[in-house]
Amino acid sequence: MRFLLTNDDGVHAPGIFALKKALEPLGHVFVVAPERPRSAMGHAITLHKPLRLAETTLADGAPAWSSNGTPADCVTLGALEIMDEKVDFVFAGINHGPNLGWDVHYSGTVSAAFEAVMVGYRAAAFSVASFDQEIHWDTAGCYAARIARFLCENPTGPHTLVNINIPNLPCHDIRGIALASQGPRQYVDRIEKRLDPAGRPYYWLGGTLAARDAPAGTDVRAIADGYVSVTPLQLDLTEPSLLRDLESLKDWPPV
Ligand code: MN
Repeated sequence: MRFLLTNDDGVHAPGIFALKKALEPLGHVFVVAPERPRSAMGHAITLHKPLRLAETTLADGAPAWSSNGTPADCVTLGALEIMDEKVDFVFAGINHGPNLGWDVHYSGTVSAAFEAVMVGYRAAAFSVASFDQEIHWDTAGCYAARIARFLCENPTGPHTLVNINIPNLPCHDIRGIALASQGPRQYVDRIEKRLDPAGRPYYWLGGTLAARDAPAGTDVRAIADGYVSVTPLQLDLTEPSLLRDLESLKDWPPV
């Protein structure tokens, strides 16, 4: 099998190397990733400046390609320019940090996988659900390898992807795999206002997570309980019950 591997933490991030190692027993891995960290880019694509690809070398001496584009751009460049569209599966990650619940809309990692499924490839995104400096990449790589093998052997539906988050724990402390829906993810104190030396205000975006118990059955809860969360996602964001609530609009006469 031929795999396209990208991320949003940059081509030399430890997480993409861990995922490359996990995928190598399953097929040929083509690494095409941003030249620098591009986390929280969402699904941005580059339309108004030139995109570049450069060959680089990973820690094991293997060749890879870096780009000045976004994670979604890397999927397009990798599939069309590097792999001649012969792509069996697109993997994104392993991200350093969680991609849980509503946060997937901000995620460059998950958006790279969404870019892949938009053009008809199969895709999955992997993240370690921690911003700690010390990450158990061996645990994450071990689960990524097992889940990637399963996904390669069990085709998923078109235009869907699988989002996987792995707790930052030693392997023996992981309690198992939980199939989970997207949980709520709300932040408080979302901006911090400071003054620069000239007395003008500036702002840092961020905030802390609202303190509340995540509902059972969600990815947020699974991670809090020490499980690997596996969440199927789809491109179609249509809300069917709201479609019904709005139905009378179609009876309005033309103005
Ligand atoms: Mn990232």
